[in-house]
Amino acid sequence: MTSRTLLKAGFVSTLVVLTGTALAIGPGGRGAGGCGGQGGGGDGACVTGMQASVVELSSQAANELIRMREEEKLAHDVYLAMHEKWGAQVFGIRNAELKHMGAMEKMLDRFGIEDPIVDQTPGVFTSELYSDLYVQLVESGSESLMDAFKVGAKIEELDLSDLRTAGVGVGDPVLVQVYGNLERATRNHLRAFAAQIQANGGSYEAEHLTQTEFDTIAASDFERGHGAGQGKGMGQDKALGQGNGQRANGKQGNGQSNGQGCGLCKG
Ligand code: ZN
Ligand code: ZN
Repeated sequence: MTSRTLLKAGFVSTLVVLTGTALAIGPGGRGAGGCGGQGGGGDGACVTGMQASVVELSSQAANELIRMREEEKLAHDVYLAMHEKWGAQVFGIRNAELKHMGAMEKMLDRFGIEDPIVDQTPGVFTSELYSDLYVQLVESGSESLMDAFKVGAKIEELDLSDLRTAGVGVGDPVLVQVYGNLERATRNHLRAFAAQIQANGGSYEAEHLTQTEFDTIAASDFERGHGAGQGKGMGQDKALGQGNGQRANGKQGNGQSNGQGCGLCKG
């Protein structure tokens, strides 16, 4: 590792701390953003604890990380289009994908890897694979709302399968945790789309996972976040409650659940 990388990691870590503090005294009341927020489901986007020493990636692992950064954008951009087309609530998942994109960006930064995303415009990708997939998926999801739900399930099983591949051989503890959080969030997203398909009388054929694996995940319970970050997360939310003067009305209970949602909160 280089001293530049270390400096950078330290800098990002400081930023996270500052962000957390700002949130704690803000008027939001829900601790949105940062590490205290976004609920016990754990949206997988919480990237702190970056002071851990960087364990360099193999070139293959680096390429996988670059790929995941664009794959999270694919999910976001497709869900954005599906939400515009159908207005279905489940496509609010795009907000989590935006955080996943951010998490991947921070990881690229951690390893000093260039960001493949140079244009944030929906549907614009550096990799031709994702440009093509975007067109295909939006086209298919525009045929009916059921098709749109299936596109969601397809993206989530692709993500899950690719996250697993991306994590193979990775020794960096922060990236391992981030991938783990993203996998958990992705399983939850898969459950959400599978539930919509089922509730509307559809059936789904798995493509990237085995059918058994897909069905097993779809049928299992929504996973809440867990991990080592509880103490700090709760502390932040407590500060929040005080700022609002609303500790007595249940906000603090809410805050604790938020704090537990992130397995990586150290900031
Ligand atoms: Zn994602
Ligand atoms: Zn997802």
